[in-house]
Amino acid sequence: MAKQNVPELFGSNVFDDRVMKSRLKAEVYESLRKTIDENAKLDVTVAQAVAAEMRDWAVEKGATHFTHWFQPLTGVTAEKHDSFITPSPDGGVIMEFSGKELIKGEPDASSFPSGGIRATFEARGYTAWDPTSYAFIKDHTLCIPTAFCSYSGEALDKKTPLLRSMQALDKQAKRILHLFGNDAKFVRTSVGPEQEYFLIDKEMFDQRPDLVYTGRTLFGALPPKGQELDDHYFGVIKPRVSAFMEDLNEELWKLGILAKTEHNEVAPAQHELAPIFSTTNVATDNNQLTMEIMQKVARKHGLVCLLHEKPFAGVNGSGKHNNWSMATDSGSNLLSPGDTPYENAQFLLFLVAVIQAVDDYQDLLRLSVATAGNDHRLGANEAPPAIISVFLGDELSGILDAIKNDAPYAGAEKVTMKLGVDSLPRFSRDTTDRNRTSPFAFTGNKFEFRSLGSANSIACCNIMLNAAVAESLKQFADRLEKASDFETELHALIKETITKHERILFNGNGYGDEWIKEAVEVRGLSNLKTTADAMPHLLDEKNKKMLMEHKVFTETEITSRCEIMLENYCKTVNIEGHTMVEMVRKNYLPAIEGYLYSLAQTTSLMKSVSTKVKCNYEISTMERLSELTDEILVSVEALEKALADLSGYDEIIKTSEAIRDDVLPKMETLRGYVDEAEMLTSESDWPFPSYGKLLFSVY
Ligand code: ADP
Ligand code: MG
Repeated sequence: MAKQNVPELFGSNVFDDRVMKSRLKAEVYESLRKTIDENAKLDVTVAQAVAAEMRDWAVEKGATHFTHWFQPLTGVTAEKHDSFITPSPDGGVIMEFSGKELIKGEPDASSFPSGGIRATFEARGYTAWDPTSYAFIKDHTLCIPTAFCSYSGEALDKKTPLLRSMQALDKQAKRILHLFGNDAKFVRTSVGPEQEYFLIDKEMFDQRPDLVYTGRTLFGALPPKGQELDDHYFGVIKPRVSAFMEDLNEELWKLGILAKTEHNEVAPAQHELAPIFSTTNVATDNNQLTMEIMQKVARKHGLVCLLHEKPFAGVNGSGKHNNWSMATDSGSNLLSPGDTPYENAQFLLFLVAVIQAVDDYQDLLRLSVATAGNDHRLGANEAPPAIISVFLGDELSGILDAIKNDAPYAGAEKVTMKLGVDSLPRFSRDTTDRNRTSPFAFTGNKFEFRSLGSANSIACCNIMLNAAVAESLKQFADRLEKASDFETELHALIKETITKHERILFNGNGYGDEWIKEAVEVRGLSNLKTTADAMPHLLDEKNKKMLMEHKVFTETEITSRCEIMLENYCKTVNIEGHTMVEMVRKNYLPAIEGYLYSLAQTTSLMKSVSTKVKCNYEISTMERLSELTDEILVSVEALEKALADLSGYDEIIKTSEAIRDDVLPKMETLRGYVDEAEMLTSESDWPFPSYGKLLFSVY
């Protein structure tokens, strides 16, 4: 197939600004733009006009259906398709789509998780158009990005609180900018999420019930070769993978997604895709779409794309890096050191606002990335630890130190760091630091939050990050607005904030045990190791207060979200446990039995033929395998009991603790015995493809 021209292809399935500008009447376009840029209320007649154009455009592109596309708390996206057809008097049909249909939909909400928000008699929920994220066509369907709420107005999705958190940050950041004489129309957070994933052969995938049911392997002895040679990272991309990536890029470009870089990752069969950053809300929608399209395109190539955080034990799992910054409508990046001292004072203020936010709300950031899958990565020497800390690099650390101590800064120009805004020295942008072990690293003009799991929606962490930074900025603005001398107060504020929050700053090796000790024992940082440990902190008073004050969540929404996330954790592990039981009872034990039978038969046959044979190999293997089957039996029964016991708890927090303390360790034990048996059993008798086959069969 001849390659299409990329600029022509890009966004061809998106009702984007170019399309709107060229197709909508000028006044309709202006009015819609005002809604998009400044949150102005949307006029009904405007909605009508937009809907009509959207329909014509979509029908011209071959669309037959439309859907409100939303992100319920299941973590995936949801859509319910309606066709455009309406009967016409002549017995035929016409294609219709009204302003009302564009603005609002009413899907039955009763099968989506609500954590008790929606009483069962009130099954209705509604979806509301989010005009800040463009509509697009996917599979002959016009998809309209929407928020999803209950009839009482509570958010049942991830987009609503994300938009609210962006608004909260916008409001507080503008107060600060105002003090610096900047009258920006809006401040938006921007995000570029780097997405890791595995690609494996579909034939292999289909043979593994654990992958099919849970997305990760629950058993599997390590192959002789893993990632130790570091020969995969940035290695030559294999032809099948390359064909997949080419196809994927095209599909993403058509949807207006700025897919930019792609490379092989550390583990065999692991890859990464990074888009160019965009507004957080759009980046979130785009990342959800990217994950969906990756899986779809993989299937076309006879591959399966695994987005699970830890598909294989013993090799690196997959994460997502959330590169985050704040920028004004004129595009000025608030986390970019400026050219003048004045700009740099403003930069330092925003910088310390983030530092304070991360310190004050470590727990919220940690729990925003907590899932059963991600628990396998954090702190496992392949991803940042569960402890949240901030990496600044040497130069910025030096500057902050100098401010804190009223000491000369030994940078390019030796000047005392007196923060009178016009005496602050210029500093170069230090982007050379590459500390991969830090969960939250400053990388020149943005922060990179590295603790996210690959399957996670990026909405969750950005909600918390935006809200926490909004809170720091609010405190700063409250204080600075009252100051009689702005510059003196600014200096004092920055200095105090550094002193108060320097415990969160750490430039060293985040993977080391010494750090864990120091972080917890000396600095008093929190180390919330698992989802069961982290999630209940959502209900801490200080967290609820902050989230409610900035109108990001209502109290009911907070309680329900905690419930849903813990439920999700419990259900995920529960499914994994039951899958293990089934594989052991139906496949592993019978398979080992079969091999034992042939060993026993061989032994007795050989001994009957010759009295000289010792059959050492047969007998020792048989003995160990027989011991292992006994251990496997005991362990599988223990796991079955642990799973059955789960129904005895009436509180989700208790269930999640039992999962952490009882179920997961028993799964681990069971796996150990089965994996040992794998190494002793003939491959032809083993029921499932090995790690070696799964990881090294795509060329
Ligand atoms: P890395 O070395 O981590 O791969 P890159 O420079 O390639 O870093 O950037 C990683 C991601 O950060 C990309 O998605 C990029 O678009 C994004 N990014 C760059 N600038 C910003 C910004 N101001 N705000 C948010 N994301 C950004
Ligand atoms: Mg990165």
